[in-house]
Amino acid sequence: MGKTKHTGPMHISKSPDPSLWVSKVPFGLGKIKPHHIRDTIKVAWENKDNLPYATRILTQGVCDGCALGVAGLQDQTLQGPHLCTTRLNVLRLNTMPEMKPEIVHADIDELKKMSSTELRKLGRIPYPLIRKPGEKKFSRLSWDDALDTIAEKVKKIDPKQYGFYLTSRGITNESYYVAAKTARFLGTNHVDNASRICHSPSKTALSRSMGIGASSCTYKDWIGTDVLVFWGSVAATNQPVSTKYMYAAKRKGTKIIVINPYHEPSMDNYWIPSIAESALFGTKIADDVYQVNIGGDIAFMHGIMKHWFEMEEAEPGSAVNHEFIQEHVNHFDELKVKVQSYDWETLEESSGLSKERMVELAVLLAKSKSAVFVWSMGLTQHRFGTDNVSQVANLALLQGYVGREHCGVMPIRGHSGVQGSGEMGADPFVLPGGGFDEKNVARLEKIWNFDIPKWQGDIVGVSLENAVLPEDHERKLKLYYMSGGNFLETMPDPDFVKECLEGVDIRVHQDIIFNTSTFADAKEAVIVLPAMTRYEQPGGGTSTSTERMVYFSPEIKGPRIGEARAEWEIYVDLAKRVKPEQSHLIEFKNAQEIRDEIAKAAPNYNGIQYLKEKGDVFQWGGAWLCEDGNCPTPDGKGNLIAMDIPELRRAEGRFYVTTRRGKQFNSMIYSDKDPFNDADRYDVLMNADDGKTYGIKEGEAIVVYNKFGLLHGKAKFVNVKTGNIEVHWPEGNVLLPKGVYEELAGIPEYNTAVIVEKSETFHAQKDTKYLEKRVEELEQEVG
Ligand code: SF4
Repeated sequence: MGKTKHTGPMHISKSPDPSLWVSKVPFGLGKIKPHHIRDTIKVAWENKDNLPYATRILTQGVCDGCALGVAGLQDQTLQGPHLCTTRLNVLRLNTMPEMKPEIVHADIDELKKMSSTELRKLGRIPYPLIRKPGEKKFSRLSWDDALDTIAEKVKKIDPKQYGFYLTSRGITNESYYVAAKTARFLGTNHVDNASRICHSPSKTALSRSMGIGASSCTYKDWIGTDVLVFWGSVAATNQPVSTKYMYAAKRKGTKIIVINPYHEPSMDNYWIPSIAESALFGTKIADDVYQVNIGGDIAFMHGIMKHWFEMEEAEPGSAVNHEFIQEHVNHFDELKVKVQSYDWETLEESSGLSKERMVELAVLLAKSKSAVFVWSMGLTQHRFGTDNVSQVANLALLQGYVGREHCGVMPIRGHSGVQGSGEMGADPFVLPGGGFDEKNVARLEKIWNFDIPKWQGDIVGVSLENAVLPEDHERKLKLYYMSGGNFLETMPDPDFVKECLEGVDIRVHQDIIFNTSTFADAKEAVIVLPAMTRYEQPGGGTSTSTERMVYFSPEIKGPRIGEARAEWEIYVDLAKRVKPEQSHLIEFKNAQEIRDEIAKAAPNYNGIQYLKEKGDVFQWGGAWLCEDGNCPTPDGKGNLIAMDIPELRRAEGRFYVTTRRGKQFNSMIYSDKDPFNDADRYDVLMNADDGKTYGIKEGEAIVVYNKFGLLHGKAKFVNVKTGNIEVHWPEGNVLLPKGVYEELAGIPEYNTAVIVEKSETFHAQKDTKYLEKRVEELEQEVG
């Protein structure tokens, strides 16, 4: 772990720099852009019944939006105040009153007609509920009855037949830790979290490449680095306050490079509301955008490295950092041989970029003294996501861009709880403080004082699939306990997911609101348990940001919801009911006791026990992991990984499709229109040249389909790489194959090949062309 400590927030220059302006016309008049002031007024209006509480949450609590990490209105990067519309949009979840009884107990068929956006506005879940097969309404039940029903079921079935899942928004480290411990106390390793469907490949890849499982650097390293690369990450949309860091970086001369199939407008020009000159005249963000094919990133990075090796041959020492490689890196020769085995033609075809463009970025990186690589779902949500991320690590290791100021690799997180979830052990491959190796298991068994099950637990996707196994199967999922989450909207193939949700005997939804999954049936019962938000939990809670800052969020004075309970407390209560004779082993009297134990169980978190007041924070691992090039791998060296270019089998006339986010926070949609490009949720983003090729006009109704599903939409011509299209997530999930997972990290495949056709042609021919006849080439799917 690093010895250098983070130096705290820095000033942002107040003098204007017109060279960064988007336009001299104030407020971006006439341009398509978000209206932050209008949005803020709207949020204030929505929270008008609870404004003092809303204000206290914003000024005292740690943001429950993305994982950038803002405590109150301050962060550790730039002096504040910081606030963004994402945070304002999720604010209402914390301030709204409980649902009225007539809504809680409404006819289930009426509730099923509502979208998650509509359901979210109904209010908080006030008390425990149950619905059995054939019942048309939820009935109220006591906490005792609810937990006894779940406990009785747990006692009756094999531990391999129940599992736990925890989402990432708002959940605290304390709840993750207790859930992880409860699962093992009850005897199961089926416990997983939302990072499985976002950043699990980042952790797996960084662990094999560098021995780390988190960002190696901090946001401050962005500011003043020579090159800041966003690879498959639209941080301006998903982590809006990060635009301030980008602005500060540009003021220090940093070049910002964006790599994405779609030239995302928000990464181009942004009007940062809390920086006067930017709010008025906008800020140009990206210096250059490389429009790579969906799935073409490995080839692109091979191209960069290929040119480095060519430069080295022409002039040794001109491209890679030999001193760093010599001292700190393994497998250089294997990587070089692999990279050189590909010719430029193959690399161009797979990446979709010309040799000249690859050479351009290769030279820029080779000539730079520092660089930070930031990435997101564009790299991870592939069936080769771990290779994608290790390839980024290859670039960083060859240049020695790690373990020092203004250098590093950063998987930027989109959910406030997600970094801590795995670190607390809510993961089938991980325990607090490490993996399932003998040493860590023995260490934890000593701390926990009970045996940890030794068999491999299932990832969330497999747990769900296990619900449709035969009754007598050893791993047939019979009880699924979910803390938040909505698989109907986050997993591929929603129809199959519904079948899985309905295939269990008992499904538990521990949550603050209803969502569309809550109404799926179950064979014996659906039980809904009302949870507290992080701001309501007695004794407060902590969450860990992308840059490994562990922030304390205090309990905030304000109205409370009916019978809602702290999530960790519910897990403890359940565990004690299942094994009353051992209840002393899972007892936590308060949140402080949990933090005290986390400090012992997860040594990186030693320090969490001292977080007690608003504003308390510490960063585990210091400012830089792998400081001075020393990686926490067995031999202290980073590992270069030689990999093949994935086979995409993009048949002639087919498109590759990926998903993108509009005005939404993860799967929560806040507007049908994307304020950055005016796209509707069912607009299919495609290149005008492809439209011309296929006789499709802008705004025309089209059908996107493959053997997995079909999406009706409208063509919207944007600057996306030809041959690639983008649809919104989660609406586009119907096109995705079920059961295709990345081999090492278990993330589902979120990209696939599709046909795009004019609606009228599709419908005129569908009987013969699609529904009745097999379309052979569509069966060559990616998985
Ligand atoms: S950028 Fe992320 S952490 Fe910061 S205020 Fe917005 S949602 Fe919260």
